[in-house]
Amino acid sequence: MTAPVHHITHPLIQHKLTLMRQKDRSTNSFRRLLNEISMLMAYEVTRDMPTQLIEIETPLEKMQAPVIEGRKTVFVSIMRAGAGFLDGMLNVVPGARIGHIGLYRDPKTLVAVEYYFKMPADMHERDAIVLDPMLATGNSAVAAVDRLKETKPKSIRFVCLLAAPEGLKNFTEAHPDVPVYTAAIDRELNEHGYIVPGLGDAGDRLFGTK
Ligand code: URA
Repeated sequence: MTAPVHHITHPLIQHKLTLMRQKDRSTNSFRRLLNEISMLMAYEVTRDMPTQLIEIETPLEKMQAPVIEGRKTVFVSIMRAGAGFLDGMLNVVPGARIGHIGLYRDPKTLVAVEYYFKMPADMHERDAIVLDPMLATGNSAVAAVDRLKETKPKSIRFVCLLAAPEGLKNFTEAHPDVPVYTAAIDRELNEHGYIVPGLGDAGDRLFGTK
């Protein structure tokens, strides 16, 4: 059975995403909006985190109250645009560790080639949340999760801001066990591999490199 694709339609997220798509939005504003959206998306991605009851004392009496079970999370940022998701996610899950995966597409073979991979040592004890704002062809997301699975995390989720239908199909076929969380599913990929209508190059807009 294929894991679900969660399309997060919360009005706050949709409003902020519309602002991000606008071509004249400044780098500063684009970065701040992604930060805010990632915080809001973190709520959805962690919605089914298991809780356990502990005994506490309020000023009035003792009670059994829920806390998050001692789960360990690792946010895995796909370089470079994944970095834009990190601060917002860490605001919600401050104790999480961070891993990085760097991949580039070989211009001749179009195969994803790894140039950086660094994860915490105890991956088998961690729930991994992979972050990449744009699920376009899906090739780098598929390669990143292929590689991540070698470290045997307890679970994997994939979070993006925008997905193209082509990328979603590619990813869910390659990794039917990995749920996807996205704020939008756009119309298509263009001939240059950009999502349309999309928001352009997320890395360039985030870092102001164009
Ligand atoms: N990566 C981006 O940054 N934008 C796209 O539209 C596709 C891939």
